[in-house]
Amino acid sequence: MTTRHARPLIALLPGDGIGPEVLHAARRVLDALAFEAEYIECDVGWRFWQTEGDALPERTIRALESCDAALFGAITSKPATEAEKELPPELRTGARRYTSPIVRLRQHFDLHTAIRPCRAYAGNPRNIRDATDLVVFRENTEGLYGGIEWRTLPEPLARVMSDPEHGHPDRMRRWFELGLDQVSLSTRFVSRPGAERIARSAFDYARAHGRRRVTLLEKPNVLRETGGVMTERFRAVASEFPEIDASEANMDAACTQLVMQPERFDVIVAENMFGDIVSDLAAGLVGGLGFAPSGNIGDRFAVFEPTHGSAPDIAGQNLANPIAMLLSARMMLEWLARDELAERLEAAIAGLIRDGLANTRDVALPGEPVATTGQITDRLIDRIQAHAPANPEPARS
Ligand code: ATP
Repeated sequence: MTTRHARPLIALLPGDGIGPEVLHAARRVLDALAFEAEYIECDVGWRFWQTEGDALPERTIRALESCDAALFGAITSKPATEAEKELPPELRTGARRYTSPIVRLRQHFDLHTAIRPCRAYAGNPRNIRDATDLVVFRENTEGLYGGIEWRTLPEPLARVMSDPEHGHPDRMRRWFELGLDQVSLSTRFVSRPGAERIARSAFDYARAHGRRRVTLLEKPNVLRETGGVMTERFRAVASEFPEIDASEANMDAACTQLVMQPERFDVIVAENMFGDIVSDLAAGLVGGLGFAPSGNIGDRFAVFEPTHGSAPDIAGQNLANPIAMLLSARMMLEWLARDELAERLEAAIAGLIRDGLANTRDVALPGEPVATTGQITDRLIDRIQAHAPANPEPARS
């Protein structure tokens, strides 16, 4: 990855709840690795919605446009009606709609590929399946989460959908009989370039990382058109990677297989919502959300974040597991081509888990000692410093 700046410019987006705590841990660890970078902290989160009516202010988007990458803590999202109530009275005009900042970032910066590794680190007492070591490639801008939906079905749209030539008059009859104001609609858009891009990202990754199998999770026997395009483009890309085993599975059946035989999966490709679901399921196999990092990758910019939310129930108590955030920082280092730093961080995290020292409350078994976010970060920093090379890797850009 060629960065805009010789010393990469990294945006820190703390967000809400435990976001600032785990992001602080990541910053300390990156400093301990002597990662040469510039940082800017940007405003994002619920309190900006409450005060300005925008959880992702325009000034933050402008600042991000000059950055190489961002580290995102976590964000609180609430349903539209609750969000409206928390606006200051003068902004409660009904004109503002709350949209999750991370969804807006994905769309504004075309962060088309979400990468979500799930690895069962040896020694993690919360592993359900020790054999799990997979990476989910989730399409991040299209599909069922594309954001095109209606609470009540607009009549012009319903008319087009029941048009005898292009639509489905038989199936639409039921909705007209029910009354269009009783019917809501969410769409699933899949573009050919989008389907091809996510498949290619997965195969490129598999080739670069020596992974042997890429599996498409879809449901083309039911979602014939969009699932059909996903399958068709997947097969086209797969033909360019003869050394990699390309397989396909129905999304529902794959959930069972994942729990029973996770070793059958290596790299997974999926549409937006399917990818979201399967990556959360896989996170459950390897100790839960505290171990699930992610990267939202575009062509020139990427945002790295733990997949967990803001965990308001434990916020501000030094209880959060920072590992998902730290593994996200590791992914950022790899994306910035700081491979040696990424490997050192991975090795330090794996060692800490192996030695039973990554024991936040979500990890420790009943009756076992529990460590705070800060203690775990301190231990990791000690480990990194104890294994520091005599001549650190010079920054490449
Ligand atoms: P949000 O509204 O921000 O999505 P949430 O509580 O609905 O918040 P999560 O934040 O993902 O969803 O939390 C789900 C559960 O997992 C909570 O009980 C939370 O305490 C726990 N949890 C999430 N992340 C962590 C973490 N890093 N360390 C420890 N526990 C966590």
